[in-house]
Amino acid sequence: MKTAACLDNLPPYLFAEIDRKRDEKRAQGIDVISLGIGDPDTPTPRHIVDAMAEAIRKPINHRYPDYAGSPAYRRACAEWMRRRFGVDDLDPDTEVLALIGSKEGIAHLHLAFSNPGDWSLVPGIGYPVYSGGAVLTNSNSWYMPMHEEDGFLARFWECPPEILAKSKMMFLCYPSNPTAATAPEEYLDRAIAFAKEHDLLLVYDNAYSEIGFDGYQAPSILERPGAKEVCIELFSLSKGYNMTGWRIGFAAGNPQAVKALGTIKNNLDSGQFTAIQEAAIAAMLGPQDCVQQMCDIYRRRRDLIVDALNAIGMQVEAPKATIYVWAKVPDGYTSAQFTEKVLEEANVIVAAGTAYGPYGEGFIRISLTTPDDRILEAVQRIKATL
Ligand SMILES: *Cc1c(COP(=O)(O)O)cnc(C)c1O
Repeated sequence: MKTAACLDNLPPYLFAEIDRKRDEKRAQGIDVISLGIGDPDTPTPRHIVDAMAEAIRKPINHRYPDYAGSPAYRRACAEWMRRRFGVDDLDPDTEVLALIGSKEGIAHLHLAFSNPGDWSLVPGIGYPVYSGGAVLTNSNSWYMPMHEEDGFLARFWECPPEILAKSKMMFLCYPSNPTAATAPEEYLDRAIAFAKEHDLLLVYDNAYSEIGFDGYQAPSILERPGAKEVCIELFSLSKGYNMTGWRIGFAAGNPQAVKALGTIKNNLDSGQFTAIQEAAIAAMLGPQDCVQQMCDIYRRRRDLIVDALNAIGMQVEAPKATIYVWAKVPDGYTSAQFTEKVLEEANVIVAAGTAYGPYGEGFIRISLTTPDDRILEAVQRIKATL
C-alpha cells in the first residue's frame, strides 16, 4: 500500500514530542499545566445548548441538511454581519456558505483555487492550516514576513514577482492567532488593493472577531470599500461563542469564491447537521452578553499573566484581542529550548512560536483558556526556573 506523496510532505506535528512528554509526566502522577491549547474552557452558553436540545428532536433535522447551509442559517449569518459590522449587502443565497468550522473552509479553499505548482501567500506566523492546505493540493506557500517592529502585519508587498505571478490566494488573520496582533483599516485597504492588482483571492480569517478587550472591537474586512470584489471572509462560532466542539462557521463575501468553495464541499461533505445550525442561529441572533462575559474572563486572565510575566522579567505587551499572549522568550533561548525548559523544569506547557511558521522564532504563545489560579500557578513555576 502506498499513500499519496502529499501526506509525506506535511510538516511533522510540532506538538507531538511535547504531547508525548506530557503524557509521560502525567502517567508518573506529575501535575502538568497546559497553556498550550486555544480551546475555551467554559461551557457553551445555556441558551445555545437549549436551542440545540429543541432542534435535535425535530425529525426534519434528522435528514440530509442543505449542503450550503439552511436558508434560515444563511439569513442569520447575513443578519449577524449587519448587526455586528454594519455589512448590510450580503446576499444569503450567493454570498454566504455554512462551514463545518472555519478550518474546513481554509483547507478546502486550496482545492477550489490552487492547481499543483501554484502558490499562496500565507502569514509567516499563523494558523498551520493555511500552508497545510497547500501541501494537500501539491501547491506551495510563500511565508509573508512578520515582525514585531511593524506590529506583526504581514508584508505581502515583499513577495517576489515571479512567485506573485503564480499565486492564487493570500491568507490574512487579524486579530491574529498566535501573535494577538490587530490590523488597522489602512492595512486592510492596502491588502485589498494588492489583491486586486495581482488577481488574488484575499482569504480573511476572522476566527477571533468577537474576542476584544478595553473597547477594541475587530472589524470585518467586508466593511472596507471594494472588499467583496476580492475577499472571502471566514467566521467561526468556536471561539466567540465557546462552540469549538460543535464545528460550525461560515464563509461570506465574493460570490464567485463562495460558489467555488461550495462546489468543492458539495463533492466532499453534505453540510453540517441542521440542528447545529439552529443552535448557531440562537448564538448569533440571541442575547450577546455571553460574548462580553467571555471577553471579561479573558481580559482578567490576560492582565494576570501579563503582570506576572513582566514581574519575572519577561517582556510582554497586553494584547487587545484573542485568547493568547505572545511573549518573547528570555535572552539566550530559542523558542524550542525555552518551551522544553518550561516543560521539563516547571511542568508547564506553552507553544513554541516556531510551530506557527518561520517568523515565530524567539516567541512563545500562552493561551488564556485555563482557569485563573492555574495560570498564576504556572507563572510562579516558570519564575522558579529562571
Ligand atoms: C481556531 C481557529 C480556526 C478554526 O476554527 P474552527 O471554526 O473551530 O474550525 C481558524 N483560524 C484560526 C486562526 C483559529 O485560531
